[in-house]
Amino acid sequence: NRRFLLVRRPAGEPVEEDFALVEAPVPSPSAGGIVVRNHFASLDPAQRGWMDDAPSYMPPIRLGDPVRATTVGVVHASDNPDFHEGQWVMGLNALEDYSVAAPGGFTMPIDVAAVASPSNYLSALGAVGLTAYFGLLEVARPQPGETLLVSGAAGAVGSAVGQLGKIAGCRVVGIAGGAEKCRRLIENYGFDAAVDYKGKDHAALVAAIAEAAPDGANVVFENVGGPVLEAEVFNLALHARVVLCGLISEYNAPEKLGLRNLWQVLTRRATVHGFLIADYAHRFAEGGAQMAQWLGEGRLRADEDVQEGLENAYAAFMRLFSGANTGKLVLKIA
Ligand code: NDP
Repeated sequence: NRRFLLVRRPAGEPVEEDFALVEAPVPSPSAGGIVVRNHFASLDPAQRGWMDDAPSYMPPIRLGDPVRATTVGVVHASDNPDFHEGQWVMGLNALEDYSVAAPGGFTMPIDVAAVASPSNYLSALGAVGLTAYFGLLEVARPQPGETLLVSGAAGAVGSAVGQLGKIAGCRVVGIAGGAEKCRRLIENYGFDAAVDYKGKDHAALVAAIAEAAPDGANVVFENVGGPVLEAEVFNLALHARVVLCGLISEYNAPEKLGLRNLWQVLTRRATVHGFLIADYAHRFAEGGAQMAQWLGEGRLRADEDVQEGLENAYAAFMRLFSGANTGKLVLKIA
């Protein structure tokens, strides 16, 4: 049982020495629990936050514990009548070959026959797809003809948000790093316009967004924060709704940046909504069914960036921060 442990809290950008890959015996189920053989693990920007000893919506990962991760895998041993050996499940586990899932935790059966790969439950049919679904459709409630501005647009959440925006009848503008990602936004995901934020100073980024969204953004779906958000707020339509989903540009920043130019939010009478997908756990079945239907109909494209091997967990995780990932970043473990 290889386990990828957090052994030191990262100072800024994580380095390989913050982690250790160790061998441990295969565990037995706790009373009423199960042991899961993990096949795929989700690598998420949120894991960076869990490595810090700072107040958040979840306790920090303890030093010496494996890095917490959502995984899909097969029940290896069960002391629970609701789960049998060989059954596919997903749950909040860790970057390790075998995880002990306690009773009452977040573990649920998944139907792998219905999907191309079990990893789909970490992408379109998992937290990423549901984040796009509820964050956009429930929180922002985009209306036909409105302009939707998405940052981190070529990533897992962002690409789904843009496509859902098209389904909702919006004009969709994405912001992403590099010409190749901008091309993918338009050709692969059906965005109406794309803005490359790289190599642009504040004024140039404000102007590029204005050109792509001449009437301003009615909805902003924010995945990035920092200088990108500071330019976006100069392009808000009156009464814009800003969904704060993620702020990846500051996850590795020792000093958090905050938002300058807040005056623009005031003058446009905009509303800023903090959003956490966990609040919608009771509606996952509904959102998952709708996402599955759109995927099946070919109205949604969900790309996955599958990296292999627990021994590559660190390098794979860092793809999120270099922007190397092309779709939902997943680590294949088994
Ligand atoms: P992505 O697939 O979008 O990967 C991360 C991307 O972020 C990179 O590919 C890169 O794209 C971009 N990025 C990295 N560093 C920077 C930077 N300094 N400035 C601008 N862009 C940067 O990851 P996810 O789809 O999993 O997550 C996207 C966001 O959604 C994250 O902020 C995450 O925390 C948030 N999230 C929030 C949830 C919630 O419940 N609120 C649930 C799930 C995710 P590029 O090449 O374009 O720079």
